[in-house]
Amino acid sequence: MNAAAATQRKRMKVQIIVLFQNLGEEHPYYAQSPAPPLPGLLLAALTPDIVDVEVVHEMVRPVDYATDADVIALSFMDYLSPHAYEVAARFRALGKIVVGGGKFASTFPDEVQPHFDAILVGEAQGVWPHMVEDIVNGTLQPRYTAAASPSLDNIPPPRYDLAERTFATPVVTEATRGCPHPCTYCQLNIKRLPFRQRPIADVVRDLRATDRLPWYKRKMAMLLDNNLGGDLAYARDLLHAIADIHLWGLGVQFSIECLRDDAFIEALAAANCRMAFIGMESLEPRSLAAVQKAQNKVSEYRDAFDRLHRRGILTFTGLMFALDEDTVEYYERLPGLLEEVGTTVILPSLAIPLYGTPLYRHISEEGRLIDSNLAHYEGDHLVFRHPHLSPEQIHEAYARVTMGFYRWRNIFRRWKTFMNKQERTGTRASHLFTLCILMFIYFKLSIFQRHHGVMKVREIVGSHDMKSTPETKKAA
Ligand code: SF4
Repeated sequence: MNAAAATQRKRMKVQIIVLFQNLGEEHPYYAQSPAPPLPGLLLAALTPDIVDVEVVHEMVRPVDYATDADVIALSFMDYLSPHAYEVAARFRALGKIVVGGGKFASTFPDEVQPHFDAILVGEAQGVWPHMVEDIVNGTLQPRYTAAASPSLDNIPPPRYDLAERTFATPVVTEATRGCPHPCTYCQLNIKRLPFRQRPIADVVRDLRATDRLPWYKRKMAMLLDNNLGGDLAYARDLLHAIADIHLWGLGVQFSIECLRDDAFIEALAAANCRMAFIGMESLEPRSLAAVQKAQNKVSEYRDAFDRLHRRGILTFTGLMFALDEDTVEYYERLPGLLEEVGTTVILPSLAIPLYGTPLYRHISEEGRLIDSNLAHYEGDHLVFRHPHLSPEQIHEAYARVTMGFYRWRNIFRRWKTFMNKQERTGTRASHLFTLCILMFIYFKLSIFQRHHGVMKVREIVGSHDMKSTPETKKAA
């Protein structure tokens, strides 16, 4: 059946749900995230115009089982797979066609397959349109497998207009996929694919395809790459092209060694980058070496962050607890070390030996896995035995450092320090405007992370006999 014939019938409706809630938790947790994840909006963009499409982000609103959608497409990560199976079962019992996809479904299709009418294995761009046509034609197959490393050319702009209004920055896209580094905990290292770039013109077009958004949401954007700096020459060219859009603020993600390249930092500044997410992960060199994160040099952090801060770029840095070489002494020093390196916002989590990663194999071969419930592999549960720290020592440090970092007075103090580094560029009015944008991003991110910390630490404090500290007591 061709597309015209399909539209003569009642149009089917596809609801894409990006799952977020965790069955392992007692209460739903709605994140105060400033931006949506990319997969839902991208899948909506790839959906052919023979069906209606809508997107639900479970991070900001619950799944609606009373929906009139005919087809439910679930996108989920590893730790959400138990939840995804339950959601799929409920929708299938209601007579909906339920399809699944995402990284986990792509890596472990045989495990995921029985829970869905059909699954999409691999990247969606070449496959999803056919899947939708088959749904409409009543010829849906159980599995659709994409080419191993398909082209990234001509991917359409994400459907920003379908993002919930609570997202302050709905303009999210990506320029690259993959990463050249071998970090043992990273999902990209379950099955390595080559690092690939999209055409620069396509990325720029995505950032301009914002007509259907209110004007005040068109000027901030995020590039949600795993590592934008996997090819620095490409990244520099892309950032200079983005500079012509005159965004108010751009957020990017890259690996820290990119900051050794002055021209990359200048290109970030030219593109009005205002936030850089960087996988700092640890301030203990031995722990970094243990997870093969050799590109991170602790001795370089302070200067690297400072160079960004002076150009009006906030640093949002991952920080992992429970790495094998972590010690009590390191955790005692950690708040001071964070102070010294001066990062502006942190994303703390416990190490996750994701199913299939080199870290998972290492821990599992040593017989240290203590929890096989995938719902607990989200970064707030300790799912393995540490070589020399007790779960209480790890949880106490995680809660204390997180809540200490996000005490209000520390949030305001870091803002003041950051502000003091800002030199006036351009006119007084443009400088003031930039400071307002930075203030918005800084407080939005800090509040998002503080909220997450309070919610999670409350859970941890409630479930462990932990040493009480002013920070953890306050959170509980
Ligand atoms: S640098 Fe980041 S994206 Fe790249 S392998 Fe390491 S953790 Fe993964």
